[in-house]
Amino acid sequence: MEFDELKDKRIVLFGAGYNGVLILDKLLMNGINPLYFVDNFKKSLPASLSKQATEVPVNPPKSLLTENTHDLRIIITPCDKMIHNEIKSQITEMGLLDNIYNIRTIAKGMCIDIINKCNLSCPTCARGNGQIKSTQGVLDTKKFREIVKKGKYEGYSQVGLYNWTEPFLVKNLEKYVCISKEEGMRVRISSNLSLNKIPHLESTLRAGVDELCVSVSGYYQDVYQINHKGGKIEIVFKHLRTLSRLLKQKKIDTSVNLRFIKFQYNHDCEEPLQRLAEKLGISFHTIPGTGNPLQDVKRDYLMAHKKPVLLKANEEPVCGIKFDTGICNLLTHHVAINHEGNTFLCCCYPNHCGTYIGKYIDLNYNAILSLRYLHPKCKSCNMIRVPITNEEQEAIIAYASTSA
Ligand code: SF4
Ligand code: SF4
Repeated sequence: MEFDELKDKRIVLFGAGYNGVLILDKLLMNGINPLYFVDNFKKSLPASLSKQATEVPVNPPKSLLTENTHDLRIIITPCDKMIHNEIKSQITEMGLLDNIYNIRTIAKGMCIDIINKCNLSCPTCARGNGQIKSTQGVLDTKKFREIVKKGKYEGYSQVGLYNWTEPFLVKNLEKYVCISKEEGMRVRISSNLSLNKIPHLESTLRAGVDELCVSVSGYYQDVYQINHKGGKIEIVFKHLRTLSRLLKQKKIDTSVNLRFIKFQYNHDCEEPLQRLAEKLGISFHTIPGTGNPLQDVKRDYLMAHKKPVLLKANEEPVCGIKFDTGICNLLTHHVAINHEGNTFLCCCYPNHCGTYIGKYIDLNYNAILSLRYLHPKCKSCNMIRVPITNEEQEAIIAYASTSA
């Protein structure tokens, strides 16, 4: 049992969000009672998330410093890789790295790009620097519903209407939100909000968006535009003020989060942005930026793999498949799909022919899992792994055997 070794330990959950509550529920079901949550911003959990959750306190992270580390286990709950790594660094600075307990992500999420473009040209992003070519392509709503339906059947519980794109460029975004809700999904949107006019902002959120994350990299225009090339921070602030008003008037109940991407050159923007978020009544968090927008160097994503890699058993004998390093949560709990309904390796790497896996609708869950697990990039990636289950091992071996 995955949780057996936690039974006599003192458990603290770091991150009082949606995935944290799902993990809490699972622990409670297994007879494990965590002591409390810690969170950098939240002081409590919304009662709507879970009955049990409201009985578990939310403390500031410094509470961890008062714990006896001997039997303390800290579970980092957010499934977002960047937030996860930020929390891991914070725990490391507290001297508690050895107390982290890696757990499987609970919420299964789909990242679906419903268009194929963005309004900005961030140099640190594969879309912004042109590694992913933009087109006018749009995922039609009928196909989108089929994809979401299949995802629901495969156990996914949330849809992110973004990956390498700006979702508010889609005029009928509301329709995609409605379809996702009709299929029983939670809906997340991540946006730069740097569009002069977003007439459908309120209607889209009112259609049932559960979480909206707004990413910025500066408080001052001259700093903001270094990474968010082509953007205007005053426009972002204008939309944030609109969101604040809608929240205060209870016209939307979306959880709005301002995300600051911190690079070496923009540290002085963190505090004013945090103050702004507090004033507007929205939450705030910082993540470390990846890459350096001041250097005109494209990130080395996967350019070495230009051709589709669809491994078959005759290319990699079954006896050659190794399971000892475990499996990445992104393989078991996430799927990345583009505006053509194609699925790719994972949301960490850009969509292109080297990461192409196949048509999402045509491949079953085990095939997608196996093709990604056997992908050369995935095998060599240093992302955190969790133990692989017997079912997953059997599925991968069976797939490799039958696709020979
Ligand atoms: S706003 Fe987002 S999707 Fe657009 S270029 Fe920047 S990082 Fe990429
Ligand atoms: S390549 Fe594989 S191991 Fe690396 S982040 Fe993606 S799914 Fe995880």
